[in-house]
Amino acid sequence: MSGLEQVAAAPSANGTGPPARPADREVVLEMSHLSVDYGLGPTALHAVVDANLTLHKGEVLGLAGESGSGKSTLVYGATRLLREPGVVAGGEVLLASRSGAAGARMDLLKASERQLRAIRWSDISIVLQSALNALNPVVPIGKEFDDILRAHSRLSRKERRAKAEKLLSMVGIPPARLGDHPHELSGGQRQRVMIALALALEPQVVIMDEPTTALDVVTQREILEELVGLRDELGFALLFITHDLSLLIELADEIAVMYAGRIVERAPAAALYRAPRHPYTLGLLHSFPPLHGEVGPMTGIPGSPPDLAAVPSGCAFHPRCPYALERCARQVPLLGELEGSGREVACFLHGGELSVPVELAVS
Ligand code: SF4
Repeated sequence: MSGLEQVAAAPSANGTGPPARPADREVVLEMSHLSVDYGLGPTALHAVVDANLTLHKGEVLGLAGESGSGKSTLVYGATRLLREPGVVAGGEVLLASRSGAAGARMDLLKASERQLRAIRWSDISIVLQSALNALNPVVPIGKEFDDILRAHSRLSRKERRAKAEKLLSMVGIPPARLGDHPHELSGGQRQRVMIALALALEPQVVIMDEPTTALDVVTQREILEELVGLRDELGFALLFITHDLSLLIELADEIAVMYAGRIVERAPAAALYRAPRHPYTLGLLHSFPPLHGEVGPMTGIPGSPPDLAAVPSGCAFHPRCPYALERCARQVPLLGELEGSGREVACFLHGGELSVPVELAVS
């Protein structure tokens, strides 16, 4: 039995999987053909290539992949937080806007700085990798809440205080701690504060980039459980980025896997766990212990992720892939839907017609 088949026979991580969702779910964030480069012209490095992601209301979408796979660059590009020499080379990022007419969507890549300031925190908020250091060390955390609420709402001072206390309670921290400075809180508490700040204006989209990586596994799990509870309570959609696929299996409704700047697999979380279709996804699943259940052998993935300056030809994963075919070094497999399954994969093991010759892979 092959590795792919072995995982296909394994039970779901949590035994149930995410609840079924209606087909006409409201789309709150849609990235289409998003490409991000470092540098310009023929020497530009292609960090994200033609990425498509759709986030629905109330959904948890996980984005997984090793360091350097392009996950964070994708988010930075989509939310206009990219720093030079990073440039968005193409695509659009449509955010459902609550301030405009019903059904109106704003292209974040074309929005003015003023428009972006108006929707940050209130329509979309982002907790970045450096969140643990993002709090101002010389002011009490209550001031961080007050600053956001004062800038984006018409609440009175008393109402802002009450709201800040409620937000802190929501993430399991006693309201009395609003007077504390960041150094008086544990790492887990500081991360909870960042999550509470991100939810302060009840945005419809929250993006979290490796928010729990620096925390111990017990605290990580507590925070993730809180996040799912808050999602259920507040109804926001969450794009959660991590290198740890086992976390996403627990948390996400749907998962997209990135490798060398491309999305190589996308599927409902339970289906991805039961039957990964891309050999890279299989390797990731064998790289981390599950949060629940028995710990099986962790074989990992041989080799290292490619350097952006020297991405292998054809399928970028082929030097590390135990299933590589002769054509894998010559052609780039494109992401395509597996017939009738509602999931997508970019691999010649699942349909050779979805490919382009190497020389046409990146225009
Ligand atoms: Fe492996 Fe080829 Fe599939 Fe790439 S396209 S993952 S090299 S089998």
